Amino acid sequence: MELWLEQLHNLFAGKFSFQKEILEKYAKDAWLYARIPDGVFFPESKEDVIALMQFAHSKGIYVTARGGGRGYVGGAVPAKGGVVISFEKMNRIKEIHLEDAVAVVEPGVITGILQEKVKERGLFYPPDPASVMECTIGGNVATNAGGPRCLKYGVTRNYVLGLEVVLADGSITKVGGRTIKNKTGFDLTGLFVGSEGLLGLVTEITLRLIAKPPFRAGLSAYFEQMEEAISCINHVLSSGIMPSALEIADRFTLKCAREFTKEQIPLYDAHILLEVDGSEAAVNADIGFFENLLKTFSPKRLSKAFGEEECEKLWQTRRLFSMSLKASGLTKLNEDVTVPRSRLIDLINLGKDLQKEFNLTVACFGHAGDGNIHVNLMVDWLQEEKRKQAEEALNILFDSVLSWNGAITGEHGIGIAKLPWWQKAVSQQSRLLHEKIKRSLDPKGILNPGKFV
Ligand SMILES: Cc1cc2nc3c(=O)[nH]c(=O)nc-3n(C[C@H](O)[C@H](O)[C@H](O)COP(=O)(O)OP(=O)(O)OC[C@H]3O[C@@H](n4cnc5c(N)ncnc54)[C@H](O)[C@@H]3O)c2cc1C
Repeated sequence: MELWLEQLHNLFAGKFSFQKEILEKYAKDAWLYARIPDGVFFPESKEDVIALMQFAHSKGIYVTARGGGRGYVGGAVPAKGGVVISFEKMNRIKEIHLEDAVAVVEPGVITGILQEKVKERGLFYPPDPASVMECTIGGNVATNAGGPRCLKYGVTRNYVLGLEVVLADGSITKVGGRTIKNKTGFDLTGLFVGSEGLLGLVTEITLRLIAKPPFRAGLSAYFEQMEEAISCINHVLSSGIMPSALEIADRFTLKCAREFTKEQIPLYDAHILLEVDGSEAAVNADIGFFENLLKTFSPKRLSKAFGEEECEKLWQTRRLFSMSLKASGLTKLNEDVTVPRSRLIDLINLGKDLQKEFNLTVACFGHAGDGNIHVNLMVDWLQEEKRKQAEEALNILFDSVLSWNGAITGEHGIGIAKLPWWQKAVSQQSRLLHEKIKRSLDPKGILNPGKFV
């Protein structure tokens, strides 16, 4: 065993492990690739994090942060070994302040638990990744996570008021604050949000909360043709009323969800899930308005959901789409590309073209209102030829998205999965700027090495 591992074990008795089963458990996230770390550290306080980073910095040891390990791009995978620092024990909600409408939390708090706790106080934390019951606020901050409600309410970034961050050398800093408006200096909070654990370790987060909308209602509509559904979405978005969520799913996704959930999900080419929230009177008026609008596109089935319980039932099925595809037995390459909304139909058609050209299934679903569609290439991973074809298909997908001024990732991040396309997606000047920032905050390159900077 290497000396530094023994030293860490002695330094952090009971908080540091290099047991085989633990190492294996912390080797991967929700993506394909695994790399066994040398050790796993479970800090219980910021002091623990500072002590680890001082040690790691002095010895040049790699450190990769991990929240819930539900990332889709290998972001929490220790690509070059070293120590995985898992924030699961730093999971205290330190404060929920009604009047200031803020929550102060440690990074390991599960997002869904925070949402429940703030709801009990009549407040609302909107960002809602479908992994909400497994992912952490720290992971959400590091990936700038999104979700269906981000159409109306914005992504994680829009709710982070302040951060406490331990830098690579073990120094600790607070950025931002506790107020909605704060123009004091550079937006360093914004710099750390979405930085995928490459610039610092987040040890405390101050989040903005908003008033909980008292009522919600939803529409679920099935269409014979995907084109009708996309056209319907464009009309919804230019109608003057903003839904809180607007999601789409294709036939293959519906078929897998039907098989996985055993629910009688109708099988059509496209499904739209639309939700509105606000006062009960306003929601009733808006849902009536959207019902009429959707009817002009002749949906094959149209149903309504009123109130928390009925709406949540619709979302429970929606949140299982990802797992339903996985349960098909094929390997799912989930590409969360984003396109300008006028290109939605081009993106869906490209999926169909790739399906034909490479003889593989392409399942599309996601946040249509944001132009953020999860294009899932379903691949028989055991066949080398299929893997090669999938790679070719991915090249075409990303080239097309970039040529439409879209982004190769809307919410999952670069991690390892998108590394081959990083160079294409970002200009040389921007890459140099990324490198300068990384060097100034982490001169020895010990934080989450082997990723995009
Ligand atoms: C079924 C399913 C559905 C999903 N749906 C969505 C969705 O709708 N929207 C969406 O945006 N994503 C979605 N995701 C992806 C994933 O849930 C998000 O990326 C989430 O933010 C990851 O959080 P985590 O706590 O699991 O982070 P991890 O996977 O553990 O880590 C993610 C990144 O954050 C870094 N990190 C973690 N904690 C810290 C910290 N304290 N300080 C610094 N860096 C840190 C890690 O190094 C890594 O780079 C989904 C995933 C699954 C499996």
